[in-house]
Amino acid sequence: MSDAAAFFSSGTVLPWLGLILGLAVGSFLNVVIHRLPRMLERDWAAQCAEMRGEPAPAAAPLNLAFPRSYCPSCGHPISALENIPLLSWAWLRGKCSACRARISARYPLVELLTGIGVAYCAIRYGATLAGVGAAVFLCALIAACFIDFDTQFLPDAITLPLLWLGLLVNIAGTFVDLQSAVVGAAAGYLFLWSVFWLFKMATGKEGMGYGDFKLLAAIGAWTGWKMLPLVILASSVIGAAAGILLIVLARHGREVPIPFGPYLAGAGAVALFWGPQLTREYLKLIY
Ligand SMILES: [Zn+2]
Repeated sequence: MSDAAAFFSSGTVLPWLGLILGLAVGSFLNVVIHRLPRMLERDWAAQCAEMRGEPAPAAAPLNLAFPRSYCPSCGHPISALENIPLLSWAWLRGKCSACRARISARYPLVELLTGIGVAYCAIRYGATLAGVGAAVFLCALIAACFIDFDTQFLPDAITLPLLWLGLLVNIAGTFVDLQSAVVGAAAGYLFLWSVFWLFKMATGKEGMGYGDFKLLAAIGAWTGWKMLPLVILASSVIGAAAGILLIVLARHGREVPIPFGPYLAGAGAVALFWGPQLTREYLKLIY
C-alpha cells in the first residue's frame, strides 16, 4: 500500500473522509428526492400522450443535473457557496439569500443523516467492499424513505437496482451467503405480496403498494432471509404506532394512505448493521 493510500484508509482519517463524502452525497440525495418523482411523472405524461397519438406535453428540461438548483419561491439560483452541505443552511439561517423565504430544515437533515451514516460505515467496515456496499445501501434507503414519505410511491429506479446490487454484493458473501440473499429477495417480495392480496380479499382495500414488495425484496437481498422477520416486525410495529399517532395528533384522515416505505427502509438499515445481534438477544429472551 502506498503512503497516501495508507493515510486515507487509516482508522482516524477514514471516518472523517466518510462524513465529508456523506454530506456531499446527502446534498445530491436532496436533489434526487425532489426531482426523481417529477421526472418520472413527466415520463408517464409523455408516454400517455404518445399512446393517444398526441404530441408530448411541452416542459422545460429536467434531470438530476439540470437545471441548477434554485429557490422555489423566487427562482434565485443557488450559488456554489450557498450549496455547502449543512454550513450554508446554518449561515443563511434557513432562509433564501434573495427573498428570505424559509428553506426547509429537511435539506440539512438529509445531509446530516447521510454524512453520519457513511461515517459509521467507514468506522464499522473500513475501506472494504462491505463499507462501500453498506454506504450505497444506506443512501438508497434514505432516498426511498423520503420519496415515499412525500409521494406514497417507491420508484423502481431505486428499488430494482438496489435488489440486483444486493445479490451482486453477496456473491462474495459480503453480508450473507448468496443462497440466503436469493431466498431473502424472493421471500421478501412474496411475503408482502401475500399480505397485500389477503388484505385486499378480506377488506376490498389496498393496504400498500407494489413498491413496498420490491423494497422488502431488496432488503432481503442485502441482509438475507433470516433478517426478514425482524424487518417486518420492526417496520409494522413502528409504522402502526406512527400511524395511530398521526391520526390522533395531526388529525390525519384515516383514509389518507400512510406510506410503509419509510419504516421498511429504517428497519432494513437496522437489520444490516445490528440485525444478527438483535436477533440473538431476542432469541435469548424467548429460550
Ligand atoms: Zn428565494
